[in-house]
Amino acid sequence: MIEYHCPVCDMESRHADIVVTHCGISYHCCCVQCRDNFSAHPVPYVTMTTAEKDASSWVKRRKIRMQHTPTSSEYSALSSALEPLMGIRSVDVSNRYVRIVYHVLQIRFKQIEAALAEQPCALSSSYFSRIHRSWIVYMEDNEMDALSRVDRACCNKPPVQH
Ligand SMILES: [Zn+2]
Repeated sequence: MIEYHCPVCDMESRHADIVVTHCGISYHCCCVQCRDNFSAHPVPYVTMTTAEKDASSWVKRRKIRMQHTPTSSEYSALSSALEPLMGIRSVDVSNRYVRIVYHVLQIRFKQIEAALAEQPCALSSSYFSRIHRSWIVYMEDNEMDALSRVDRACCNKPPVQH
């Protein structure tokens, strides 16, 4: 059986059907989540080395406020929804907060937020909490957009003449 190399998580994949094309090259991803993240920002995944993708600066730690302290069954539902997702390193609950450690090149906060939104224990709807979550999404989008511009000219890197 042919094994493919997922450009997002660097795992071997046997899914011949989860394919995305960038600049005429086909990349086989291990799962739909990796494919979606690759499609949104292909450049970082094709330009970074495995060591660069593994850098600890991509590991994010977030403390997310819930509407109430999750009961033990809500907590186990929440961790079994999040932990299998690619890129999740750990999920812990203390009082009303869920602490999540994840690899941002493999999973974005907006994907975590979408998974949390399906949980019986709701995310906090307070104004501050909503602003906090939007800010994380905004920062991550900016970070990925900046990584996607590595080949573009900037003030100290003039455009290459062809
Ligand atoms: Zn993958």
